[in-house]
Amino acid sequence: MRLILFGPPGAGKGTQASLLKERKNLAHISTGEIIRAAMKSESPLGDEARSFVTAGKLVPDTLVRKLAEDAIARHDNDDFILDGYPRTLQQAEWLDEYLADNLVRLTAVVSLKVEDFIIIDRLSKRRVNKETGENYHLDFKPPPVDVPSKLIMQRRDDLPEAIQTRLKEYRDVTLPLEEYFKSSGRLIEVDGVGSMEAVYERIVAGVAAREVA
Ligand code: AMP
Repeated sequence: MRLILFGPPGAGKGTQASLLKERKNLAHISTGEIIRAAMKSESPLGDEARSFVTAGKLVPDTLVRKLAEDAIARHDNDDFILDGYPRTLQQAEWLDEYLADNLVRLTAVVSLKVEDFIIIDRLSKRRVNKETGENYHLDFKPPPVDVPSKLIMQRRDDLPEAIQTRLKEYRDVTLPLEEYFKSSGRLIEVDGVGSMEAVYERIVAGVAAREVA
């Protein structure tokens, strides 16, 4: 199966993508991860992206396009999950063009639905292990005591002002894409609130129903 995981920041796209990767053997392509790695390695592209990411803004389409297409090209023959791409109408149109040119068929676009107040709680209480990239939540999944506290950090784009900007960018620029996917019959809406397992089961059931239809 080839899926797009769609939804606001903090909807659980990354968490669900990790489960799908592990259990369904799908390649996980996250533009957010790719951009963060570019920033860490201080590549020219990472340096260009940094000010956008830390402010919670979307990185310009032209910068993201090549990153995404290169990553997809490495997995043309695999089943994959696209996590966090596309996020603008232009990116969606480029992606469709790319998939058509390369005869790659998408199974579905899974849109995870989560209300803003839950998102704000999830993002503001998220912490990350800067070595392993593992995510924690201060209440529900606190960092284990044996992980040195100097390894636990908060993403700069999880600070309150950046969260508000990311939510606004999502509402203004990304959310309208749902109509684009809906009009081409690819959208599956999934309630993203609940345990990791419950949401995972909903995704798998939704996609299975689509594959049979
Ligand atoms: P994420 O980890 O998916 O929440 O992405 C973190 C940040 O990376 C976003 O807030 C954007 O600044 C940037 N980013 C990731 N994917 C995209 C994309 N498809 N288009 C533009 N910016 C992106």
